[in-house]
Amino acid sequence: MKYLLFLNHPKGEKVFKVTKAKERLARKYFKQIDTLETSINFEGREIPATVDFNIFTKLSNFDCFNCQDPCCGDNPVVFSDKTRDFLLENFEKYDNKTKIPSILENFGLSSKEITESIKNDPGLIPEEFLENEIDMCSCSYKPDNCSTLCSIHGIALEKNMTFEQIIGLKPLVCSLWPLEILSEDDLSRVFITLPDDFTNNFITEDYYNIACINLDFTSSPFFRRSNPVGFEEKNYVPFYLAYKDTIIFTLGENFYNDIVKKIQEVGRDA
Ligand code: SF4
Ligand code: SF4
Repeated sequence: MKYLLFLNHPKGEKVFKVTKAKERLARKYFKQIDTLETSINFEGREIPATVDFNIFTKLSNFDCFNCQDPCCGDNPVVFSDKTRDFLLENFEKYDNKTKIPSILENFGLSSKEITESIKNDPGLIPEEFLENEIDMCSCSYKPDNCSTLCSIHGIALEKNMTFEQIIGLKPLVCSLWPLEILSEDDLSRVFITLPDDFTNNFITEDYYNIACINLDFTSSPFFRRSNPVGFEEKNYVPFYLAYKDTIIFTLGENFYNDIVKKIQEVGRDA
C-alpha cells in the first residue's frame, strides 16, 4: 500500500510506502468498521474508495492563525510547474514573506541562480540549503513570532484569488491535510480516514498533538499553557462541514455528497 497524498514526496518511497505492519493494521481496521463504498476523482482519474465515513463527523477547528504547530515542517511534494510559475510571477511578495531568496543572496547566489532554482529544484531551493540554512517548507513563512503560514496561500489571498484557484496552486496534500488516503499499490482502490486515537495508528500523523482535530487536547491545561489564545470550543464543527469546499474541489462533488448522504442516513449529521 501507499500513502496516496505523498506519492510525489521528494523523499519518494521512503515516505509514501506503507510498512507491512501498518498495512496489516489498516486492512484490519477497514474490515472492522462501517464503511461507505464510493469513488474519488483523483487528478482526473476515478478511483473506487472505501471510506471511514463516521470519522468525517469528528469535530475540527482549523485555527491556523492561532496555531503554533509547525505543520509546514518540510517540503511535502516536488512542487508543480504551476506553483513555480506563480511564485516567480510574485517573486517580490514571495521574498517579502519567506525571506528565502534574500537568504540565498546572502550566501552568494546570483538572481539568475535563485530564479533557476525556483524553476527546477524539487524544493524550490538548492538541495544543500534544505533542512540546513533553510528549515521548514520552502513556501512557509512566519507572519509573527508564533504561527507559521503558507506563502502560496497568503499571496493568493492578497491577489483576491478564489478558494478553488488557491486549491489548484497548493500541493494537494496541504489542502487535504490531515485527511489520510491509503491506496493499493496500483491505485485500484483507496481507503480514507482521519487521524484518531489508538484505533487507527497506521497513519502518518500523530493525532495527539493535532489541535485542529483534537478538542480534548485543546481543552487541556497542557495545551493552554503554551496556546492561551484560539481553538475555542464553540468554533469546532464536524470535519465534513469544515472541509466541504476543499473536498469538493479536490476529490469531487459526488464523493462529498455520498459522504453527507451516508452520515445523514445513519443519523450522525450536525
Ligand atoms: S496543525 Fe492544524 S490548525 Fe495548526 S497550522 Fe496545521 S492545519 Fe492549521
Ligand atoms: S501549506 Fe504551503 S507552506 Fe505549508 S507545507 Fe504546504 S506548500 Fe509548504
